[in-house]
Amino acid sequence: MLGQRPNPSELTAETWDLIVIGGGITGAGVLLEAARRGQRVLLVEQRDFAWGTSSRSSKMVHGGLRYLGQGDIRLTRHSLLERERLLQELPDMVVRQPYIFPVRRGKFPGRWPMKAVLWLYDFLAGIRDHRWLSMDKLMQLVPGLNSNGLVGAMRYTDSLTDDSRLVARVLHEGCGHGGRACNYVEVGKIQRDGDVLQLSATDLISGAALSFRTRHVINATGAWADRLSGTEKKVRPQRGSHLFVAAERLQVSDCLTILHPDDGRPVFVFPWEGRTCIGTTDLDHRDDLSFEPVCTRAEVDYLLKLANSQFPQVALQDSDIISTMAGVRPIIASGKGIDPSKERRDHAVWSHDGVTTVSGGKLTTFRLIALDALLAAGLIEASDHRANQTPKERMFHFAVNPPHRLGHPLAALPSGNALLDQVRWVLDNEMVVHLDDLLLRRTRIGNLLEQGGKAVLGDIKSLCQQQLGWNGAQWDAEVSRYLQIVERYYSVPQANNSVADAA
Ligand SMILES: Cc1cc2nc3c(=O)[nH]c(=O)nc-3n(C[C@H](O)[C@H](O)[C@H](O)COP(=O)(O)OP(=O)(O)OC[C@H]3O[C@@H](n4cnc5c(N)ncnc54)[C@H](O)[C@@H]3O)c2cc1C
Repeated sequence: MLGQRPNPSELTAETWDLIVIGGGITGAGVLLEAARRGQRVLLVEQRDFAWGTSSRSSKMVHGGLRYLGQGDIRLTRHSLLERERLLQELPDMVVRQPYIFPVRRGKFPGRWPMKAVLWLYDFLAGIRDHRWLSMDKLMQLVPGLNSNGLVGAMRYTDSLTDDSRLVARVLHEGCGHGGRACNYVEVGKIQRDGDVLQLSATDLISGAALSFRTRHVINATGAWADRLSGTEKKVRPQRGSHLFVAAERLQVSDCLTILHPDDGRPVFVFPWEGRTCIGTTDLDHRDDLSFEPVCTRAEVDYLLKLANSQFPQVALQDSDIISTMAGVRPIIASGKGIDPSKERRDHAVWSHDGVTTVSGGKLTTFRLIALDALLAAGLIEASDHRANQTPKERMFHFAVNPPHRLGHPLAALPSGNALLDQVRWVLDNEMVVHLDDLLLRRTRIGNLLEQGGKAVLGDIKSLCQQQLGWNGAQWDAEVSRYLQIVERYYSVPQANNSVADAA
């Protein structure tokens, strides 16, 4: 299990087989695959686990219809097989969900092209789970959907998860196999010292300078990968944002895939942990990566326009938005300067002077990405890599039993004692350092409740103080830090804060 935060200085005593830099889904996957092969492996994360992109995705464990549309059959097939595996192995966390693609007269793609694509999609996954919905059936399933030009819809299935809970689950598993992980350790520099690599790092909690020794390094820092790869820049950071709105205002029971009226990009409207989520946008991200990304005013307007074009009677507005969430996708640039949406979503692995860098790809395919990185680092044989593309054995062995469906993508946030049970369990087991670790990533209180859950802070105060040893002043400082983060990075931007880029 992940457990409590170790003293990072104690982790500098040994020479590791492998140090993984980056505690998103990619790094967690590498930790797991290396640790279960008996390697001595340590993962370090500069902020909190899943603080980067892996808590800010569209939460879909999916093949990705758009990738099939782009002709990327290999990526789609791999993703679909991984989806099926995760559905079987983590049924409380990865959940099959109906998706609906409304078809409108004269708009591409129509019923038959969609049917052909979905036939292939299901075939690649080894399932058969799509059908045409008549207008009557569609309006029963999605009441209030704009019927203008609508002729019916294709219904198929994919799946949903809670991305940051998935990262925690993979970290638990990796630590169960003997791997170690530590958050708030930022790596600054990697230097070769004979056969060994030396990592200079900082413990961001104590401020102490740290020096780690390891035989291999995998740089799994996603959008930040260029900082440590030692090679020319390869990553084109792209921002995608989401809105969370009250389900009472916009109720959907299935995931809708809607083409945006402005540019025809597919945007999802889907149920998630008791709220309705709308996203995503897709824009070049030019802001400083040292700060959390922000959903801009232009993106809010773009997403509201999408929702209101489909549900005109709902007329969503700013006051319906509970929170916003922006993430930065590490896209491996084609160098052709094409539209961000058209860049390939595949991952890339490259090595330089003992450092193997892995970036790009998807949440869904983290296990395969990890195997590619380990192969490139020379830590697994080609035969092991090949055999594990479609292995028979399970990936998850250890029991991790969080209370009250924590991490179930369709379970609403509980209240009262049930919420306190979740908080207590997380504080006991999941290396919480700051209040935002607890409220924005281990639980989703900060995304799902107004003002980041300000109203429940009083309820969880004594638990946090007891479990984390915070005195009154420390609690106050944590609350103030947390509310600032919510205000700056997760709230609705005002009109005059608008950034020039349009979605
Ligand atoms: C809007 C959006 C929607 C998406 N939707 C989906 C989806 O529905 N399904 C899907 O499969 N995929 C989706 N993706 C893609 C997926 O989320 C990403 O591919 C994945 O999360 C990347 O994980 P990662 O571990 O490589 O990067 P990250 O999660 O960003 O992790 C990298 C970590 O490295 C840390 N780090 C950086 N520098 C240092 C350093 N010097 N020292 C220590 N640590 C460091 C960072 O803090 C960060 O936590 C989406 C992406 C976006 C942006």
